[in-house]
Amino acid sequence: MKQQKYRNLLKMLDPSEFTLDKNLLIQHCTDWRGVYRGDSDLIIFPKSVKKISKILKFCEKETIRVVPQGGNTGLVGGGVPRKNKNEIIINLSNLKKIRDIDFIGGSITIESGCILDNVKNKLYKHHLEFPLSMGSRGNCQIGGNIATNAGGVNVIKYGTFRQNILGIEAVLPDGTIYSCLKNIKKNNTGLDLKHLLIGSEGILGIITAATIKVFPLPNEKTVIWASFDTFKDVLDFYVFMVREFNDLISSFEFMNNESIEVLEKNELKLENLKKNECYCLVEISNFQQIKDFNEFISSKLDFKKINTDDLIISKSEFENKKLWNYRESIPLAERKEDFIVAHDISIPLVNIDNFVIETSKSIKKFHKNSSIINFGHLGDNNLHYNILIKNHQSLNRKSISKTINRIVYDNVNKFNGAISAEHGIGQLRKGELKKHKDFEEIKKMQAIKKLFDPKNILNPGKVI
Ligand SMILES: Cc1cc2nc3c(=O)[nH]c(=O)nc-3n(C[C@H](O)[C@H](O)[C@H](O)COP(=O)(O)OP(=O)(O)OC[C@H]3O[C@@H](n4cnc5c(N)ncnc54)[C@H](O)[C@@H]3O)c2cc1C
Repeated sequence: MKQQKYRNLLKMLDPSEFTLDKNLLIQHCTDWRGVYRGDSDLIIFPKSVKKISKILKFCEKETIRVVPQGGNTGLVGGGVPRKNKNEIIINLSNLKKIRDIDFIGGSITIESGCILDNVKNKLYKHHLEFPLSMGSRGNCQIGGNIATNAGGVNVIKYGTFRQNILGIEAVLPDGTIYSCLKNIKKNNTGLDLKHLLIGSEGILGIITAATIKVFPLPNEKTVIWASFDTFKDVLDFYVFMVREFNDLISSFEFMNNESIEVLEKNELKLENLKKNECYCLVEISNFQQIKDFNEFISSKLDFKKINTDDLIISKSEFENKKLWNYRESIPLAERKEDFIVAHDISIPLVNIDNFVIETSKSIKKFHKNSSIINFGHLGDNNLHYNILIKNHQSLNRKSISKTINRIVYDNVNKFNGAISAEHGIGQLRKGELKKHKDFEEIKKMQAIKKLFDPKNILNPGKVI
């Protein structure tokens, strides 16, 4: 019966629009961290929005479950099918046109399969900046970025992706094409459906294109690397830098000593940088044609007010890249470890020091062979607070993870934070969401899902 259903589906497709190849399917069924390994008999790479509409109409009628997939760099198991659930994958990589760049209004209209880095490079040639950047930019797609409301390293300057999206085109589960690709900043015409689709992790519709704000490219960027004895010194440094540089700051990243240890063990060594407990990487962008930018930056860094003995100001694009590479290689280094309990949390900056002290103490008490790899986008209150467990018996994994999650998430609640800052819910945090969202809010979310997708064909088993 299932084969018959697929046969009719395949008849709608060009042979280059799908694969049944087992090896390729395995790749697309496994998430980036290798934690979620689902299965599927079919992956489709549609070449047009109309085709997606036809496919979804058919799938809804025949109750075929569909997982939307972009670059498959997601970190919560949202973009891969589950095991033994007969789900097919619709991968968006063939929708990769740049439809328009509006040089007057300052926006770009792009299809959802465009790779983030390709969009950034295209805009760079026009001296324009795209408001999103992150370590996965060489592989992740715009549709995946919108579906996860991605954060990344420039939120402190441009806001989250949601704040930069002016319009969206999407195919809804019954095949309806919803299109609102207007390049206007003000549009008060009732409920704004695009904001439901942003961050919906593929459960309400397949995003096919978007109109997104773009910004003038800064003249130059300078990276500052500083190290500190304590987390409190880091926070003092943050306050000092915001006062001195304000909206010239385009990134403010944090790494603790354990992050650097895992980086040096598995990926690369820090060159000519002093070791310490905490590290910051701050990117300052010259948006104001300031002459002799390095001189300008140095003149503002008052060492009497900064409690550091190691502060480096990059002098070239080469040095910028080298320093960024340390920060962006941490996830790659972590991936080489056997057992990590990962978190992506938001904590108000005013509580963050106490959160780290209390949570780390409880974790060390629970498991003394643990190492707390704490890094992230500090300027946006966002920590990737990941616990590396050494010398464990594999049988214990589930119960160790459960206890660690309890310690971390109870403290997230206590310090008024959020259990996901930017990666989303997917499969990984679905259970936890129920405990942290108000019951009435969950009920409303379920009602919205039912309204969009009454037969639950789109990305079932994810988020709610
Ligand atoms: C090294 C590394 C660094 C990272 N750094 C960051 C970071 O700084 N900030 C951050 O926010 N994330 C980060 N991530 C996570 C990840 O890159 C983002 O979540 C990214 O936005 C996912 O895009 P993707 O195309 O890979 O989506 P996928 O992983 O393919 O999918 C993610 C979710 O979106 C849905 N989806 C995908 N495409 C569509 C579509 N067209 N329509 C509807 N739903 C869709 C999927 O069903 C799934 O639920 C990082 C990941 C890695 C591996």
